[in-house]
Amino acid sequence: MAPHVGVLAIQGSFQKHIESLVRAGHPADQIHEIRTPEDLSQVRRLIIPGGESTTVGLLMQYTGLDQAIIERAHQGMPIWGTCMGMIMLARQVENREQFSLNLLNITVRRNAFGAQVHSFETQLTVAGLVDPIEAVFIRAPIVTKHGPEVQVLATFNDHIVAVQQDKILGTSFHPELTSDTQLHKYFLNL
Ligand code: GLN
Repeated sequence: MAPHVGVLAIQGSFQKHIESLVRAGHPADQIHEIRTPEDLSQVRRLIIPGGESTTVGLLMQYTGLDQAIIERAHQGMPIWGTCMGMIMLARQVENREQFSLNLLNITVRRNAFGAQVHSFETQLTVAGLVDPIEAVFIRAPIVTKHGPEVQVLATFNDHIVAVQQDKILGTSFHPELTSDTQLHKYFLNL
């Protein structure tokens, strides 16, 4: 039986991740929207989607999901953060005091490519995937510093845009907005 997967559903583009997981072959009745620590206890993996990191940080702390996620991560639960999700997983957000989970030893710069109008799509080679993927960047962050335990999976114009530390994965871009399911399958196999 496939292990139950959760998608953080407080705010942001969680529905698209659910659709991608289904396209990747994961049974729909084993995909759960996560809003509370109780929801989290039902799943064995977690995706934190794109959205707005200040808002989600506040809501995570309000619901107690922050401590629940940190505890499960320390027990080895795989987590994947896309865009805002990667910001939430970071140790530090550059140039500001902002809550984050400190589960990836990285520093991120928010909105590193400029404003919403500077959103773009590009082909990207990602370590561990067979084919290049179509990567959608929407007010995306980049990784500006990382510890030696962090593996760089992809760069774009010399900026680090995908990283992995053990079973924690972070991508600056949105694979759930394309039909490509390679990264979702990669995550489900971690
Ligand atoms: N710019 C957003 C933030 O900093 C992230 C954007 C996204 O998740 N698409 O929170």
